[in-house]
Amino acid sequence: MTKVSNISGKVVVITGGARGIGLSTAKALQRLGAKIAIGDIDETAVKESGTAADFEHYGPLDVTDQRSFDAFLDEVERQVGPIDVLINNAGIMPTGRVIDEPDALTRRILDINLYGVILGSKLALARMLPRHRGHLINIASLAGETHVPGLATYNASKHAVLGFTDTLREEYRGSGVAISSVLPTLTNTDLGSGVHAPKMLRAAEPEEVAAAIVQMIATRRSKVRVTKVAGVISQIVGLLPQA
Ligand code: NAD
Repeated sequence: MTKVSNISGKVVVITGGARGIGLSTAKALQRLGAKIAIGDIDETAVKESGTAADFEHYGPLDVTDQRSFDAFLDEVERQVGPIDVLINNAGIMPTGRVIDEPDALTRRILDINLYGVILGSKLALARMLPRHRGHLINIASLAGETHVPGLATYNASKHAVLGFTDTLREEYRGSGVAISSVLPTLTNTDLGSGVHAPKMLRAAEPEEVAAAIVQMIATRRSKVRVTKVAGVISQIVGLLPQA
């Protein structure tokens, strides 16, 4: 296990952190002394879970709204401090064949899963690059490297997130800002509940994906694939750590 002593005191922003993988990651990082800011379109979810008071900042955020996102990050920096890590985690995964998908839903999937990540990346880099430090983490999916039937638009969004993130990493190599992607397997969250895992594959728990994200922040790894086969969780690291 890699040491995680460098997490304490870091200001970490997590989009879509009101539940699922985002909330589990927030709790895991907080236990290690990180200062957590959560933004989510669902304003009530964290409050209802009784954990809102535990975090440094919790506020409404729509990742598809440039003004809302920019203002949210400004507020975090005012209240908590300069952002060390942004985790672009918010996402949706409606299932079904694309020909049956209403056009408005097709656009919404791409708006949240892809545009929201691109927007968050731009806003984070604008703050981090002048400081020559920081870590941008985009949550993709193993669906971004495979072709899961019934998820064509979702798959497209995650393939695009991986391409976008890999390109940014090349563009800003040596800048002091690490740029990473996480590819979770099917995970037991509200989002993952509509999909059935193939026989050997077992859905991961959100805490298991959170543990991989914690390791990624500690090591500044470029990419990690989280898989669970026959009940065994494993993290396959794609690329080397970044300076
Ligand atoms: P989840 O549904 O439990 O949580 C997603 C959160 O995003 C929700 O709290 C939701 O309110 C929020 N959100 C949705 N639209 C938003 C918006 N416009 N602005 C801000 N917040 C918004 O889902 P999860 O399973 O925890 O998924 C988190 C990420 O992990 C997603 O990007 C998802 O694609 C990815 N992922 C999930 C799985 C899985 O099987 N659960 C597998 C691979 C990747």
